[in-house]
Amino acid sequence: MSLCHPEKGNVSCGACCGLFNLKLQPNEYKNLLLERTTEFKTTVDFSIRHSFPIYRKDRETKEAHIPKKDEMTYNCPFLGYVDDTKQRIGCMIHPIFTGDPKSQNFSFYGTSICQAYDCKTKEGALAELWEILFLEIAKDSIEYSFLSADHIFTYAVEKFFSHSQKNTEDMFVKDRLELVELFRMRLGNSSRENLTSFEINYDAFLTLDSVESYLHLALGSDWVIWKGEWEKKNPNRGEVSGSFDK
Ligand code: SF4
Ligand code: SF4
Repeated sequence: MSLCHPEKGNVSCGACCGLFNLKLQPNEYKNLLLERTTEFKTTVDFSIRHSFPIYRKDRETKEAHIPKKDEMTYNCPFLGYVDDTKQRIGCMIHPIFTGDPKSQNFSFYGTSICQAYDCKTKEGALAELWEILFLEIAKDSIEYSFLSADHIFTYAVEKFFSHSQKNTEDMFVKDRLELVELFRMRLGNSSRENLTSFEINYDAFLTLDSVESYLHLALGSDWVIWKGEWEKKNPNRGEVSGSFDK
């Protein structure tokens, strides 16, 4: 299991299949996923190959009216609920369900892309620690997907702690409450973002200033409040790092 499908809990991520490219509210994402799952289960027969493209065409037609955040980003209709309780989302044509190693070739991306792709957070050294933290924060798979796909924000948080002379692994223990708070604030505005996990980070966050500018932009006034509290709890951080304004 992995960041995509944690072993524990009942949430999973499906962001790179394009879900958030559709301009919907969190409960509308759930309804859409339920609709897809029901239609898939009632119309697709794994032993009848043409039932896959028929389903795909039908869903693409039905979803064509939903406004997209980016017209160039595809949203795959094979993303649906993959457990009996309809809580975990995932690829309904994954080989573990179909028994066919190439079944994802019925999708727009195709088997090789679907199976080879790993997002930045999943590839990162701290992936397992992020997974545990996101599991703790997310109340459902929609929130878990927002958190997991948001690799630029996650990287910025890592860099904030490292520029503040904090050990980035220790932050998951010693600064856990502050971390949870940061990501809860981020969830509050992440539905505006078209998070696919493909986003390119043009800023390597080489300085504390650059990280702080990004976090300020991402969180607005919440960041100012969070930072004020952080500075009260960590009064010597500027003396240690030497990179804070006095
Ligand atoms: S965005 Fe990352 S964590 Fe989410 S499903 Fe894709 S690869 Fe997995
Ligand atoms: S076919 Fe590929 S893009 Fe579509 S849901 Fe499956 S893994 Fe995602």
